[in-house]
Amino acid sequence: MSTRAERSADKSLNDRHTKILKELMARVDNRRCADCRKKDPRWASWNLGIFVCIRCSGVHRSMGTHISKVKSADLDSWTPEQIANMVRWGNGKANQYWEYDLPPQIDPPEK
Ligand SMILES: [Zn+2]
Repeated sequence: MSTRAERSADKSLNDRHTKILKELMARVDNRRCADCRKKDPRWASWNLGIFVCIRCSGVHRSMGTHISKVKSADLDSWTPEQIANMVRWGNGKANQYWEYDLPPQIDPPEK
């Protein structure tokens, strides 16, 4: 069982994480799904550091948690490590890295 002080510490940490996520999602790079470019993604793969739409979050989930660890930006609670990875990466940087070798003709289609 947790004490009242611990619970309120959890809550303020959660509030801080929610604020950081909101700020990250307001960035130009993160305003579109990292995979299909759909607007306003509300899901994230925290180990890859990307924001994705709900449809692509399903694709990421089906790849397994050893490849992609999916969380909801709105519904899940986050750890400081997970938040730090989202801050470190973000859609722009992650796509530059992961899609670096992709020829332009197989760039993910616009949705
Ligand atoms: Zn998508």
